[in-house]
Amino acid sequence: MKDEVLRRFAEGRVWAAGRAPYLASALFALRPVVLEPRVDEVSGELVADAEFRAFPADTRWQVYLDPGTALNTSAEEVGWWLLHHIGHLVRRHAARAPVSSPHWAQAADAEVNDDLEAGAPAGVVSPRALGLPEGRMAEEYLSLIEVLDAAHRRGGRPLAELIDCGSASDGVERPYEDSGAGEGLDEVERELLELAIAREIENRAAGRSPVGGGWRRWAGERLRPAVDWRAQLGAVVRRGVRQAAGRVDFSYRRPARRPGVNGVVLPAMVAPAPEIVLVVDTSGSIPPGTLARFLAEITALVTRAGGPARRFRVICCDLHAHPVQTVRRAEEVELTGGGGTDLREGIAAAVALRPRPDLIVVLTDGQTPWPEHRPPVPVLVGLTGTEPPPSWARTVSLPT
Ligand SMILES: [Zn+2]
Repeated sequence: MKDEVLRRFAEGRVWAAGRAPYLASALFALRPVVLEPRVDEVSGELVADAEFRAFPADTRWQVYLDPGTALNTSAEEVGWWLLHHIGHLVRRHAARAPVSSPHWAQAADAEVNDDLEAGAPAGVVSPRALGLPEGRMAEEYLSLIEVLDAAHRRGGRPLAELIDCGSASDGVERPYEDSGAGEGLDEVERELLELAIAREIENRAAGRSPVGGGWRRWAGERLRPAVDWRAQLGAVVRRGVRQAAGRVDFSYRRPARRPGVNGVVLPAMVAPAPEIVLVVDTSGSIPPGTLARFLAEITALVTRAGGPARRFRVICCDLHAHPVQTVRRAEEVELTGGGGTDLREGIAAAVALRPRPDLIVVLTDGQTPWPEHRPPVPVLVGLTGTEPPPSWARTVSLPT
């Protein structure tokens, strides 16, 4: 039975490689993991487990196959899901996922399915199916989908059914992932594979082979990351801010500018100002000039995002987290520390702060142990060295 399941996976892969030849190496990097079959107690027949309808993937490029589902799904549909998951994986949706956002999975699907409209299984979310513009990032779809979903719920029905794509989509580890523990691709292998896929896509596109627009955009960005680190940093901070603002509530505290019909006061949208905490690696290995410049940039971004009166919190970290400082300007930060670095301490201290931060910005040369699991708050790393932080962090390389 396991062989049959693996055969269906292989058939799906061949179909997918025919549809998107530029993703052939990606398809062959996927590792199938066959789950324990679900069997009907009475008839003894295989049962398809709806939870595994999408053949969910994890961030190590492992695809989990429920035998009942796999054997009841056509090779075309299996192949479609493989292409879909490659979309999640190379776009790093797991690392980009905001903490506990109920609509992220659909937003990520909308970004991925832009190029996969044809042949999509029933009930799958895509920009066209939702009536949304094409070619956007999941972060943009997220806010659009939140608005759409709220409207649909008022009408008494959800926007679309939820289809689980696994941790490849949202970064949350599933219990069944244990069965594939320790296998699959590690961070370096992922990096190399992504570069190889991006190069393949560019070569094919240059040779006038048809390549989906979303894939071409992705390859271009992957091979030529933005050189302007300020712009990149700004984009990530704004994204963190948008995530904070995603918790926008309708509040009657401030009336809307426009009076309501017949004198009814309309609620105003109140976006909470984002709480940003800066964790600075003060072990002494970062040149003071770099440190000062980065602090100044961060202050400017925080001010732009939250207004000039905005204060932000700073934690200096060497082997230990130093007491939190609340400052308004970069010059007010008192840099304390020296010796070794353990940023796990600084990040843990930042996560424990109340009010809890919406975004943690870390400045480091990367010579430090990192938390093993993704912290419950998005982390942006300004990196002065070459040692890469874990994939759950957004990293911006800083010129030294
Ligand atoms: Zn998906």
